[in-house]
Amino acid sequence: MAEQTCVAQHAFDNNHRIDINNLKLIGNTLLGNPKDNIDNNEKSGIYEISCKDCDQKYIGQTKRSILTRFKEHIAHLKHGRTEKSCVAQHAFDNNHRIDINNLKLIRNVTNSRQMV
Ligand SMILES: [Zn+2]
Repeated sequence: MAEQTCVAQHAFDNNHRIDINNLKLIGNTLLGNPKDNIDNNEKSGIYEISCKDCDQKYIGQTKRSILTRFKEHIAHLKHGRTEKSCVAQHAFDNNHRIDINNLKLIRNVTNSRQMV
């Protein structure tokens, strides 16, 4: 089973829009301390990757650090494994770029048992 659903893919294919207001918290999570943003890439939880070249946003979740997950997306893109990652697929198909600066932690989920 895929680690996340292809939200961006769905929106793109159907010309639907995904808005931050449609993001719903599932389970109890602890908000990351805004002061330690520097470590956010090492945290697990719900993350957002926005495309550098258009308004497309991808929201996923991971039980590992979001940085690790991000690197996977990049690796999939690099090797053309677009079936493995919506982010890679979008960037590949449109010749767009995904940058580490576009990675953002939305919710820090500390208890992996609460992940779906
Ligand atoms: Zn794009």
